[in-house]
Amino acid sequence: MRRERSAKIVATLGPATSTKERITAIVRAGADVLRFNFSHGTHADHAERYAIVREIEKEQGRPIAVLADLQGPKLRIGTFEKERIGLTRGDGFRLDLDPAPGDQRRVCLPHTEILSVLKPGTDLLLDDGRIQLEVLQCGPDFAETRVVTGGGLSNRKGVNVPGVILPINAMTEKDRADLHYALELGADWVALSFVQRPEDMAEGRRLIAGRAAVMAKIEKPAAMDRLREIVELSDGIMVARGDLGVEMPPEAVPGLQKRIIRASRDAGKPVIVATQMLESMVHAPSPTRAEASDVATAVYDGADAVMLSAESASGEYPVEAVAMMDRVIKSVEHDQFYRSYVNAYHAEAERTPADAITLAANHVADTMQAACIVTYTTSGTTALRASRERPEHPILGLITRKVTARKLALAWGVHPVFAKDAEDLDDMVQTARRIAKEEGFAAPGSSIVITAGLPFGTPGATNILRIAWVT
Ligand code: ATP
Ligand code: MG
Ligand code: MG
Repeated sequence: MRRERSAKIVATLGPATSTKERITAIVRAGADVLRFNFSHGTHADHAERYAIVREIEKEQGRPIAVLADLQGPKLRIGTFEKERIGLTRGDGFRLDLDPAPGDQRRVCLPHTEILSVLKPGTDLLLDDGRIQLEVLQCGPDFAETRVVTGGGLSNRKGVNVPGVILPINAMTEKDRADLHYALELGADWVALSFVQRPEDMAEGRRLIAGRAAVMAKIEKPAAMDRLREIVELSDGIMVARGDLGVEMPPEAVPGLQKRIIRASRDAGKPVIVATQMLESMVHAPSPTRAEASDVATAVYDGADAVMLSAESASGEYPVEAVAMMDRVIKSVEHDQFYRSYVNAYHAEAERTPADAITLAANHVADTMQAACIVTYTTSGTTALRASRERPEHPILGLITRKVTARKLALAWGVHPVFAKDAEDLDDMVQTARRIAKEEGFAAPGSSIVITAGLPFGTPGATNILRIAWVT
């Protein structure tokens, strides 16, 4: 089941996508990577969905990446008695430490560290900035507020206090427990939230110890100041616009998004654009034109992937939202000006065998008008370097390690396939031909370009380039 596009789709799983039927439907509709948000749901919920995802992976015969997103030091309100309340401008609303379910007049805010830094006049932003409260009176265990901007409010929405530095660690106790659990399950990617310094990434890497690829969510202004170093220590990046757009003014977000995409493409690290991409599809079967345009912009910029949050996790039209992204991406990639936008930025090659072979392979594939580039890759590096070039030909990644194949499901233009290591050169060519044909990339008579490393199965040894014909 090959995708007829290069940019990938990340879909968040949640109550709307918990059954095997629904998850199968979103994978069929185009989801390449499934995000498990550890801010919501129990470990048992995640384990159940994880088992379903692996069953589907087996049935569909294509690697699916699981991205475990750790909450990080995000402040959240507690839960409500009813599913949802409505706040109106001018209403009084109290936040306190009482864990009892909230109602129209109050809700729990289980963070003494935030209550203790509030002052009358401080603004609190809830649910990615949708709701604004102004503190009127406060103490160490409560805050009486007035609603400045109202709206619907439901369980466990995030709370931001813009401009106030809170005395909290990058990784909470909950994150450590969730990380342990996610790695036990077998997550392929782990995303760290609210990364501010390269040290936060180094700490995450130390804890993860190579068991999963590590993603930095860029959502704090401080992270922008040291972006290159953070990217350097990451395997992937997420433009987490939800919190980024609350901590920074909305007009700053588009420019930051482009900067983050460029820094990531430069380093050859997969980059995801996330949050509110098709937000109105939470309740409607089609998006606004502005939302379709937002997805398109990320694709024109050459992002590796676009992401759905509430649309697929708790929305009314999860399958339609994935299908819509799939259509927008394909439409962009068929646009006559698409190549000129993607090529407008070109990352400089490094003086390494992997980059040299990759560049040569693209050149050969162009000249031969090859059907695809087949890349044998062990650690995934060669496929990522090939993807970094944003070539016009699809990259078929043949990978022996399951974790590598799954990780690459996120990478632009890479179609990962589980395969055995080649035994010799003959076997290398035969296998490449067979899989290129089976996966629908090459018809008989077309040529393919193969890159590999000798001795086979040695990470970082890419040094062969071969042309072969499919028969
Ligand atoms: P983050 O800051 O990590 O993005 P979030 O709360 O914004 O966290 P999203 O994954 O962006 O969460 O999803 C947006 C909304 O969708 C959530 O606020 C929540 O209402 C709903 N949601 C997402 N995942 C789940 C889930 N597993 N269980 C319940 N609700 C969920
Ligand atoms: Mg978050
Ligand atoms: Mg979010």
